[in-house]
Amino acid sequence: MTTLTFDSLNPATGTVVGSHQKQDAEAVREAVGRAQEASAWWEELGHAGRRRRLLDYKAVVTRELRELAALVHEETGKPVADATLEIVLAITHIDWAARNARKVLGPRRVSGGMIGANMAASVEYLPLGVVGVIGPWNYPVFTPMGSIAYALAAGNAVVFKPSEFTPGVGVRLAELFAEAVPEHPVFQTVTGLGETGAFLARDPRVKKIAFTGSTATAKRVMAACAENLTPMVAECGGKDAFIVDADADVEAAVDACLWGALSNAGQTCVGVERVYVVDAVYEPFMRKLSERAATVKAGEHYGPITMPGQLDIIKRHIDDATKSGRTITGGPDSVRPPYVDPVILEDVPEDSPAVREETFGPTITVRRTKDAQEALELANDTTYGLAGTVFSGNKRRAMALARALRTGMASVNSVISFAGVASLPFGGTGDSGFGRIHGADGLREFARAKSISRQRFAVPGMRLTSFSRQPDELERLIKVVTFLHGRRKR
Ligand code: NDP
Repeated sequence: MTTLTFDSLNPATGTVVGSHQKQDAEAVREAVGRAQEASAWWEELGHAGRRRRLLDYKAVVTRELRELAALVHEETGKPVADATLEIVLAITHIDWAARNARKVLGPRRVSGGMIGANMAASVEYLPLGVVGVIGPWNYPVFTPMGSIAYALAAGNAVVFKPSEFTPGVGVRLAELFAEAVPEHPVFQTVTGLGETGAFLARDPRVKKIAFTGSTATAKRVMAACAENLTPMVAECGGKDAFIVDADADVEAAVDACLWGALSNAGQTCVGVERVYVVDAVYEPFMRKLSERAATVKAGEHYGPITMPGQLDIIKRHIDDATKSGRTITGGPDSVRPPYVDPVILEDVPEDSPAVREETFGPTITVRRTKDAQEALELANDTTYGLAGTVFSGNKRRAMALARALRTGMASVNSVISFAGVASLPFGGTGDSGFGRIHGADGLREFARAKSISRQRFAVPGMRLTSFSRQPDELERLIKVVTFLHGRRKR
């Protein structure tokens, strides 16, 4: 007999938080059908109507902040304060998307250029229809909302498949939307295991998939999308580096490094996993890092590992690293399910799993480099390319290093700070995926550009796109183009 429901568990206690349906192909088909009908109404509302409703949704989520944070805490195990922080960030993104959609996506005139001087040219960004969002469990509000809010603001209906570890949060997000927008099911949640997400990706009426999760699953989702040429945004995690330059504020760098590595038990796609410290500040940095790490406790400052299977990966990385590297803080015994205490590993070979694979736990590897250039080269020696951090007292060098990191995002003298700036696009390169959520790029990601050129008047003697074109008209064109483009710049 097939089970029709599944439970979400509190990872700290193992108690059941809620029971949810494993929605099958038929249920997903029906949800997409409803979304398709709702999308026509939502599109018809226009930017002003959607803006008002999205701001209402923001207000409903804000008023529900404490209850939602409690639910996030129950399903992920993270401290309520951290759950609150992620919801606050999500609220700022709903606000930004609602307020900026018209400006970014609405019609605007563009120049016709010299050849098209008789054309009135305009571009606007129109909704795609139904967008499918497949979300993770690590930030079950903030991460999917980076796609959901922007897709809705761009005029699409959304069907959301949350992770099987945080279905209750996903269901609640759609319920709150229905409080603000009761007319039509513009935002629905479907629950289930991986196959429910696969049904969504395979539905030809879904016009874009926004996926967050592992690189391996992204490839499977992309293969499903390929059947219908459905485009996709893929946000697939990383192996982010943290560079400490010679004249960095060491105290501030240590504080940021620990937060970036250990908060949310290291289960952060843009979390710090590799640290490269230049020789000049290595000793003071390591001394302060180990002192401060000793004061951070699993179960107090951060929660358990949400996904039980991840504990094996974290353990494998630590066990392997301790064979050839040194442990500064913690070690193999730090893994005491469902918690993992802070682990700091030094001089782990660059080709070991702890340096190359995403650990997704409260562990970091630290390496001494002779200078910032060597740190940069090691930071870029990865198949991932999500984000990175630079701490430096020299603004120009810090910006140059941040630019040279082969990542989609970087923060300078702060950690993960780009995620809270709603106008900055969020996403990666390489194994970290492609496409962008957040900011103007995040709005355009969920829209199709529509270009219109309107002839304002016919240019006499220039019937270039007509079978009645005469040779002298082509000659005139060659003269114009030679005048405009034929000279070399000095
Ligand atoms: P997955 O990539 O397995 O899952 C992400 C989402 O995809 C979930 O909603 C999942 O549903 C769904 N899914 C799974 N299989 C399919 C499929 N065939 N078709 C469509 N959707 C599918 O990530 P996990 O949650 O299992 O985490 C595994 C690893 O991913 C972690 O170790 C970490 O490295 C990385 N990760 C990265 C995140 C990031 O922020 N970039 C976030 C979370 C994880 P279900 O949960 O029901 O399986």
